[in-house]
Amino acid sequence: MEHSTYTIKKNRTENSDLSRVDWDNLPFGKVFSDHMLVIDYDNGEWGTPEIMPFKNLELHPATSAIHYGQSIFEGLKAYRTVDNEVAIFRPDMNAKRFAESCKRMCMPEFPPELFEQCVREIVDFDREWIPKKEGYSLYIRPFMFATDDYIGIKPSDAYKFMIFTCPVGAYYAEPLNVKIEEHYTRAAAGGVGRAKTAGNYAASLYPAKLGKDEGYHQLVWTDAKTHEYIEESGTMNIMFVIDGKLITPAEDADTILPGITKRSVIELAKDWGMEVEERQVSVSEVIKAIDEGKLTEAFGAGTAATIAQIKMIGYKGKHYELPSIPEREFSNKVYRHLDDIKEGRTEDKFGWVVKL
Ligand SMILES: *Cc1c(COP(=O)(O)O)cnc(C)c1O
Repeated sequence: MEHSTYTIKKNRTENSDLSRVDWDNLPFGKVFSDHMLVIDYDNGEWGTPEIMPFKNLELHPATSAIHYGQSIFEGLKAYRTVDNEVAIFRPDMNAKRFAESCKRMCMPEFPPELFEQCVREIVDFDREWIPKKEGYSLYIRPFMFATDDYIGIKPSDAYKFMIFTCPVGAYYAEPLNVKIEEHYTRAAAGGVGRAKTAGNYAASLYPAKLGKDEGYHQLVWTDAKTHEYIEESGTMNIMFVIDGKLITPAEDADTILPGITKRSVIELAKDWGMEVEERQVSVSEVIKAIDEGKLTEAFGAGTAATIAQIKMIGYKGKHYELPSIPEREFSNKVYRHLDDIKEGRTEDKFGWVVKL
């Protein structure tokens, strides 16, 4: 298969911020690398990709993404390996998911091979920004939004695709108290829950705030119709170990974001000979498994934290404490193993890592 390579215009800043970074204190998502990549879409085609110094955008007040929400994004990470190489984790999966989000949001499909090339080149251009400490990484944020300046409802004719990156510290996810949500919903069948689109996050903020007021870190979303089936936890996929089996809600419902971390956890579990079930998971089954002592692990899976342990589940006003975290054999092992693959301490037998 022919693999086309696109020409990218590059313009390096004369005022690097690199020397001003406090590498021991990197708040997530607040420190930005020197450059960004921009491609404009107009008249039915993608313009020349350009890497330029990071700067503010100037937008027309009628910019259609602001009013009507055609806006999608991705999130992935680059790591410095123990051999001081640069490794990007499964960018092909993000490229594919981005193209699917484009389609659902009625945006022109962004070519997956261009997505991957842009990710590689912006990371390479700002490679000095990839932290050198173990557990640290460079968070990569590709996104695209509608730029027509027109107050009327129709798919925009013009779009902007961009990537910026942020050096981030080790994400020691605090074990979570979660609440099974029985009123609000993140996504409904036939809606946009499967797309990584901005509005899904806006819709989740108010119910999440109510949950926080009750002392929960995050919500566990349930299906919009019956609230009897579990979907996701916050902005992560959710996984359980029950009776020694790895169990997670199937993503054939279009209400669940097809996560790359979850997919990787499943592929590792299968490789280790563990039984995996991707299917509907009911709330009552999970509560029953907790009561009978059969549920041994529960965690969220996503790029930011990799694995975020769940220590308590709230349901109908009752608190269910889950087994102690150090004893969770599978999720602790999978967390270490994924880290080892990304940072080059163990063989990448699935070919997940793209090296620069
Ligand atoms: C991004 C995201 C995830 C996790 O996906 P990863 O590819 O593992 O980072 C899960 N759920 C939602 C709603 C998300 O936006």
